[in-house]
Amino acid sequence: MDITINKIDTPKAHPDEANLGFGTIFTDHMFVMDYTEGIGWHDARITPYGPFEVSPATMVLHYGQTIFEGLKVYKKEDGSAQLFRPKDNFERLNRSAHALCIPEINVDDCMEALHTLLEMEKGWIPSAPGTTLYVRPFIIAMDPYIGLKSSPTHRFMIILSPVGAYYPEGFNPVKIWVSPEHVRAVRGGLGAAKTAANYAASLYATEIAQAEGYTQVLWLDGVERKYVEEVGSMNIFFVIDDEIVTPELNGSILAGITRDSVLKLAKHQGKKVAEKRISIDEVFKAHEEGRLQECFGSGTAAVISPVNKIKFGDREITVGDGGAGPISSGIFNDLMDIQFGRSEDPLNWIVPV
Ligand code: PMP
Repeated sequence: MDITINKIDTPKAHPDEANLGFGTIFTDHMFVMDYTEGIGWHDARITPYGPFEVSPATMVLHYGQTIFEGLKVYKKEDGSAQLFRPKDNFERLNRSAHALCIPEINVDDCMEALHTLLEMEKGWIPSAPGTTLYVRPFIIAMDPYIGLKSSPTHRFMIILSPVGAYYPEGFNPVKIWVSPEHVRAVRGGLGAAKTAANYAASLYATEIAQAEGYTQVLWLDGVERKYVEEVGSMNIFFVIDDEIVTPELNGSILAGITRDSVLKLAKHQGKKVAEKRISIDEVFKAHEEGRLQECFGSGTAAVISPVNKIKFGDREITVGDGGAGPISSGIFNDLMDIQFGRSEDPLNWIVPV
């Protein structure tokens, strides 16, 4: 792939690594490539990071034909940097593309684009403990047309943002709230795709959960409102009878890369794992019977987010002793050690930058 490079004249000052937060600071450059029906992807380029002009009629602004990904670059103690399963992100981007009638991109081209951009932006990868460079690839429908159809033109971009440690105050459990009314996605819909609509659909119930004093919504399935699907924008796990259980992928759940990594790593370590349909009633029954040991969310942002309270209707249960359990903590540390290159990479997930 030919990538035209247009460098920034005056590089920006780098932020204070102690106060990075999430998603507000962007690096000097971004990757851009356009798609035109009949031509394919073209004009791959790296340009200075900055705003670009679009028509108010641009299709993505009206009908949400857009997809995105999220992954991180981790700096090792020796100063080198690495990615965690990046091809899985671009493969998922293509599955999302398929669901949204967006043209797919060659995964090797995506990797080349990312490596070329990271080569230029290496200096932006933070090194304070737990900090990373967040990578946000995305595609938007670009045609200036307000009729509803699939856009014949698209734009693919990769932007980079140095982000702070997710747990600056320690690995603390969160309280979650089961929405009795709202669903995130339905089978046959877009739940398995990483697309704007699912996140827009999650905002209202999340506000209710937060007003009730909970951090995240525990989403149930959209048909029977009975089976557990995801928590916030993470996959969910329970430890019941020493088995690590997560809902099976059913078309409305996003196939998280951390979810897959938890399953594979736990299995590799000889732990019992299962992907199966699990109802919220079973979770509460397991708790009543003293069999619910742990609950946690999994995702790129937090890696593992332990859950200590679950509210469903007028009942609230405390999971385990209310602290982060040994399985959640163990998997969190083991995954972080692989991601930051502090340990071996037993399942070949690491790609050096
Ligand atoms: N579910 C949803 C809805 C998400 O947005 C994410 C974050 N990408 C996840 C699960 C976790 O996916 P991953 O482990 O790939 O970050």
